[in-house]
Amino acid sequence: MENAVLVLNANFEPIHVCNIKRALGLMLTEKAALVMNGRGVIHTTYSSYPIPSVIRLQRMVHAPHPKVPLTRREIFRRDNYTCQYCGKVTPELTIDHVIPRHMGGRHEWTNVVAACPSCNHRKGGRTLIESGMSYLHQPKSPSQAANYVFARQLSANNEWIEFLSGW
Ligand SMILES: [Zn+2]
Repeated sequence: MENAVLVLNANFEPIHVCNIKRALGLMLTEKAALVMNGRGVIHTTYSSYPIPSVIRLQRMVHAPHPKVPLTRREIFRRDNYTCQYCGKVTPELTIDHVIPRHMGGRHEWTNVVAACPSCNHRKGGRTLIESGMSYLHQPKSPSQAANYVFARQLSANNEWIEFLSGW
C-alpha cells in the first residue's frame, strides 16, 4: 500500500501524488476514476479492487501547477550533486547562502547553492566579493516541468511518463 499514485486533474494535468489508500478512497467515492492499473488487484473479504497507478479527478479542481520544493535534496539535485564553487562531486554537500542570511540573504532558489564543506567553510559568512569566490552556475529556480517535478517518483513508476510529458 506504499506505492505512489499519480493524480491527474480533470483536464489530465498531473497535480500531485498520493498513496494507494487515499487513491482508493477517491475512487470508491467516485471523486476519481482509474486511468492506469498495472499493479494487480487488492482482495478484501467481499470484493476486489484494481490497484491504481494513475487516477483522474472527475471534476476539475483549482490547483496551482506543482512546484519543486525548496529542500536540501532538491537543491542538491538542481546542482547535480556538485559543489558550485569548486566542482567537486561529493555526498557531503552543504547548503550555502550566496548572500549570507545575516546580511539579509533570502532562503530562495536564486540565493542557495550546493557547496562542499571546505568551500562553505572558506566562504564563511561572507559575500562572493568579500571571499573572492565565484560559482560555476548562476543559481536559478529549477525546471517546473512535470517530469522534473515528479522525477523522484517517476524513476519507480516509469509508466507515468506519458502522463507527465508536456506539462
Ligand atoms: Zn567545493
